[in-house]
Amino acid sequence: MKSSIKKTLENLLGPSRVAVDPVNRALYCRDMMSGSTLEMKAGLHPHLPDLICWPETTEEVSKIVRTANHHKIPVIPFGGGSGVSGGTLPLRGGIMIDLKRMASLETIKRVDDPYPHYVATIQSGILGEHLERKLNERGYTLGHFPSSILCATLGGYLAARSAGQLSSRYGKIEEMVEDLEAVLPLGTIVPFGGRIKKYPEVAPKEILVGSEGTLGIITRARMRIHPMAPAARYRGISFNSLSSALRAIRNIMQTGLRPSVIRLYDELDSLLLKYGYEADDRKKTGKKFLSEFPYLSSLKENAFHALLHHPDWIQTLFQLAPAECLLIIGFEGDADFIRHQEKEALKICKERIARDLGEKPGLHWLKKRYSVSFKMPDLLEKDCFVDTIEVAATWDRLEALYEGVRRELKKQCLVLAHFSHAYSEGCSIYFTVIGHTGSARKNLESYRQVWRKAMGATLAAGGTISHHHGIGLLKAEWLAQELGGAMRFFKRIKKELDPHNFMNPGKMGLEMMG
Ligand SMILES: Cc1cc2nc3c(=O)[nH]c(=O)nc-3n(C[C@H](O)[C@H](O)[C@H](O)COP(=O)(O)OP(=O)(O)OC[C@H]3O[C@@H](n4cnc5c(N)ncnc54)[C@H](O)[C@@H]3O)c2cc1C
Repeated sequence: MKSSIKKTLENLLGPSRVAVDPVNRALYCRDMMSGSTLEMKAGLHPHLPDLICWPETTEEVSKIVRTANHHKIPVIPFGGGSGVSGGTLPLRGGIMIDLKRMASLETIKRVDDPYPHYVATIQSGILGEHLERKLNERGYTLGHFPSSILCATLGGYLAARSAGQLSSRYGKIEEMVEDLEAVLPLGTIVPFGGRIKKYPEVAPKEILVGSEGTLGIITRARMRIHPMAPAARYRGISFNSLSSALRAIRNIMQTGLRPSVIRLYDELDSLLLKYGYEADDRKKTGKKFLSEFPYLSSLKENAFHALLHHPDWIQTLFQLAPAECLLIIGFEGDADFIRHQEKEALKICKERIARDLGEKPGLHWLKKRYSVSFKMPDLLEKDCFVDTIEVAATWDRLEALYEGVRRELKKQCLVLAHFSHAYSEGCSIYFTVIGHTGSARKNLESYRQVWRKAMGATLAAGGTISHHHGIGLLKAEWLAQELGGAMRFFKRIKKELDPHNFMNPGKMGLEMMG
């Protein structure tokens, strides 16, 4: 990169908010996508950004983008870097714009039109947990609790269409946003209430939410917020078949009940959760598990790997064992609301021959709800490949999607799943895949095959390839297949807003043929 660019940006931001040193460049070369770790283990070198900068205002973001345009280099918006689809990877180098210094909760106000509610104006670089804490101090909540709340930003949520654990009550992030302020790829600022010149008839949020930094940088947002719920209660319910549990969830959502959390774990995932809530830390969990299954007690890492060479055996074993699928359900509101909703939900579950396990599993889930997603590095350390694949479908296609993906993958890796983010029309499935091949190269190959098969099976079952992790690089290959003709429209918008393709290039399949 030309030193004149660094100079220009240093003049704009001050030297402490611009970095070109190797450590920062290496730190910003990736997000949390498992594939990046597997590639590094296989000896593949990542692309590095040329420069990282930390703006503090929307005007600074605009000037950085204009500088990048002038010098014909890419810019990549960077929130928390917690994305798991490779959305921030600097495929062609360029300027990484880290927005975390734009982190103010600016105002909270009551709005009466078209109905009384509360709205907060917030800069996009704020971390989810900081935002929630600041809102809570004033008696409000955003209602958005992704497992990555500690390391993801509001801008990242909006850019990747995130979903929190309480989405059944509060909706996904795109349902919470009322208006946006953004910087477009040529540096123009679109203020709140403004319009993108080329699309005057469309609210900018309709174009920018979910565009993963390819169409502009979200700098501020007006978000709908809620007074904090006075109480909440969570419990566990056990079903003896996945199908009957899914029918119960569908019924609960379609009769208009409003659980804040409703998550169903398949047999294998239920077993892990069950041992998790019976023992509080992972070590104890492992010991308890092994003591109850003495034939497994000699299993060490090699044996674990050996088992992973035959994942279909484990799955067949599970089919023979009596099924137990755990549902975690929770309600928020005042005591009467909770009591009534819980009673109705339990009635529906019991019609499906379910067993009420009381509050213990629900409280355990609540306690561990952010930590469970951070177990993947342990498995990557053990030379496994591991990832999560979140897809979704309408109720009529959901089980076929679940079975289809498992059938495709069962010889290659262990597959466990839970169903979360349930709505009246459908639900998402969150698969966890774990495999081992014996070498880093083969792990990478196998991992890529797993993704190809899972995406193929999802599309074949009429599902959507992403409910909340976005498309990024990882799913780019399949987006056109899912969107059909709408992909041409997306590409046209990209071309009109970003004629030189400088804004987060190479993502979301925008450069693919067709
Ligand atoms: C352990 C773990 C658990 C997770 N759990 C969940 C979960 O429960 N629910 C969920 O939805 N996701 C989850 N994720 C995925 C991830 O946290 C989300 O995709 C999140 O929305 C990304 O936010 P971020 O700020 O880290 O974005 P980044 O990773 O920095 O960026 C994601 C994409 O958005 C773009 N972008 C970032 N900021 C902006 C901006 N201001 N304007 C325009 N584009 C921008 C980037 O260029 C990139 O394409 C999890 C990830 C991890 C690692």
